[in-house]
Amino acid sequence: MAGRINDEDIALVRERARIDEIVGEYVQLRNAGGGSLKGLCPFHDERTPSFQVTPSRGLFYCFGCGEGGDVISFVEKIDNLTFVEAVQRLADKVGVQLRIVDDGRPGIEPGLRLQILEANDAAAEFYHQQVSSSEGIIARQFLDGRGFEREAAETFHIGYAPRGGHVLRDHLLAKGFSPKALVSSGLVREKGWDFFQGRVLWPIKDSGKSVLGFGARRVYDDDRLPAKYINTPETVVYKKSHVLYGLDLSRTNIGRKRQAVVMEGYTDVMAAHLSGVDTAVASCGTAFGSDHARLLQRLMGNNGALSGEVVFTFDGDAAGRKAALKVYQGDSEFVSQTYVAVEPNGLDPCDLRIQHGPEAVRELVARRIPLYRYVMDNVVHDFDLDRADGRVAAVRAAAPLVTSIRDSSLVDGYLRELSQIVGMDVDEVRREVARTRRNPAPPADLRPTLRVLPEVADPAPQAPA
Ligand SMILES: [Zn+2]
Repeated sequence: MAGRINDEDIALVRERARIDEIVGEYVQLRNAGGGSLKGLCPFHDERTPSFQVTPSRGLFYCFGCGEGGDVISFVEKIDNLTFVEAVQRLADKVGVQLRIVDDGRPGIEPGLRLQILEANDAAAEFYHQQVSSSEGIIARQFLDGRGFEREAAETFHIGYAPRGGHVLRDHLLAKGFSPKALVSSGLVREKGWDFFQGRVLWPIKDSGKSVLGFGARRVYDDDRLPAKYINTPETVVYKKSHVLYGLDLSRTNIGRKRQAVVMEGYTDVMAAHLSGVDTAVASCGTAFGSDHARLLQRLMGNNGALSGEVVFTFDGDAAGRKAALKVYQGDSEFVSQTYVAVEPNGLDPCDLRIQHGPEAVRELVARRIPLYRYVMDNVVHDFDLDRADGRVAAVRAAAPLVTSIRDSSLVDGYLRELSQIVGMDVDEVRREVARTRRNPAPPADLRPTLRVLPEVADPAPQAPA
């Protein structure tokens, strides 16, 4: 949203949104005497509560990690929102109509955000009911074929969008939603057609369990849209670079275990949770990016200092290797806490659960290796390490992976890792890397790596089956 929110409205939101109620949606609070409440801090890992809320002052403070503020900053921090987004969310909750101070830039209609969220909720409910309809048999068969029982469909609130063309639109109009809200939510196209038709749906929620949008899989051979997966288009509430499927189920566990497992598809996330990997999420219709990384870091309780680990379960194929490299080329601080879990036979977590049971999914995650080792392994892989010149060539090819690291405190560890993989003395590797840095044949844009990794046709990984 552009424009500025009226100051009086912000004050009114702060006054009406009761901090004990808002915090209570995320943290189990107990009476601590003196008008204060206590609970386990959602921003750092602890066994005994040092997180305190004082409703009379509208403030929270953690004596363990020092995180503190008012109700707006709590929502900002817990859900990784901007100030304006946090104010909007709270305003929706407590029924304050925000007035936007016009500063010449286009803004959004006040209240539209709330209408979209309500329409999404109603749509999710409608779609879910359709799974049990006679037409919904195709969705039930799809779930069945992937090892998901009836109960799983309930837990994950799986939906089915009927083929009729206007079925959802007519249902929501009858419930009183305006045509404008339906188009703005991405549920209905400008011309009035349902956006999703004849597809199995996953509701994508934020960590506060509001439905932001949907992921949808093709199940009919004659579907007019060829894409196996489509998602809600960008709306006021659905930004694909910010949403993660499964966050509603995993948010608390990610904070407690300081671990997040990033999978490639909706069914993988389902299989993970049903197998006991309760920190699993997936990006939706886009590659995992820096906004996703920041969101997970926030949930793991990174307060400037690094803590926790992010585990990627890439497919072992070319597309998976390319996706791993893309993460590696991102923020080097993030890379240092990033791991990869690759199934040797190329099974995704969903298939792994079907063929080898839930233990196999848990083992897959337990067998994770650091991302930089995985990427180095892939680069070095094509060289003959039994020969001295092969080892030197491998080090030269991998050198840009080391020199591209901006954080100098990490370089030594990477050098040691490389020397182990290649089987060369670490000082020798250091000299070779330095030599490559002085004569950067291909510069540190990792070109050698890209040459080793085969190009794939579709660079944007869509959620697989
Ligand atoms: Zn804390």
